[in-house]
Amino acid sequence: MARILLGVPFDGHSSCQRGAAQAPAAIRAALHSASTNGWNEDVVEAVARLDDAGDLSFVSGEDPATTIETGAAALLGRGSLPILLGGDHSITWPILRAVRRHCGRDRLTILHIDAHPDLYDSFEGNRSSHACPFARIMEEGLANHLVQCGIRTLNAHQAEQARRFGVEIIQMRAGIEALTTAARRLEGAVYLSVDLDALDPAFAPGTSHPEPGGLSTRELIGIVQAIPRGRLVGADVVELNPVNDLRDLTARVSAKLVKEIVGRME
Ligand code: MN
Ligand code: MN
Repeated sequence: MARILLGVPFDGHSSCQRGAAQAPAAIRAALHSASTNGWNEDVVEAVARLDDAGDLSFVSGEDPATTIETGAAALLGRGSLPILLGGDHSITWPILRAVRRHCGRDRLTILHIDAHPDLYDSFEGNRSSHACPFARIMEEGLANHLVQCGIRTLNAHQAEQARRFGVEIIQMRAGIEALTTAARRLEGAVYLSVDLDALDPAFAPGTSHPEPGGLSTRELIGIVQAIPRGRLVGADVVELNPVNDLRDLTARVSAKLVKEIVGRME
């Protein structure tokens, strides 16, 4: 099955700082950088096996969510496995609408790796905020189960939302073994959503909401590699903010993750 990149240069629902719309170009540049090669740690030539559908273009007058949902649906309809490059995390809601339709009634689990649960009912008056996508996804029944890994910013409201939706939260403080085990035991169809601020800011300075106490790059790769092969129906890598990046380090981490995700899609 074809694995295909789609850039989603959209940061219109960021709450704090714009810049994530510049991420797809930065990740592509890192993927093709002469400083590394296109192979992943499974010794698979990941970049060569990856098609590229380019970037979505957002036209005035159309709801960006419609553009994103239509773009994701087109790739899924061709029978390919999409890897979407954000963009802010709000893009995951419309993507999941397309994924749910594609999967029909099959059991679908989301593995969501992030410093933040993104479960606000509304944030600063915006129900489409990048702080809210998983509330919308669970309300609409777009996934049967949501597993969140690396969380370290829970508050009372989002803890209540998690209870309401039956979200399985494995906080960062539970330790890397608990996080990796959660990935290893995934069953059925899986959608992976990686917010780069799951990483400690020391490893990924280029995000809009750097949150100390996070994963190392090696630990995050380990979680991705623990996902059983062949289960992924799609994935997104979101919230890289090149405006804050240092010497493209976070873009390089993003590109490496893309290559390891391709390895799970073999
Ligand atoms: Mn997020
Ligand atoms: Mn986050």
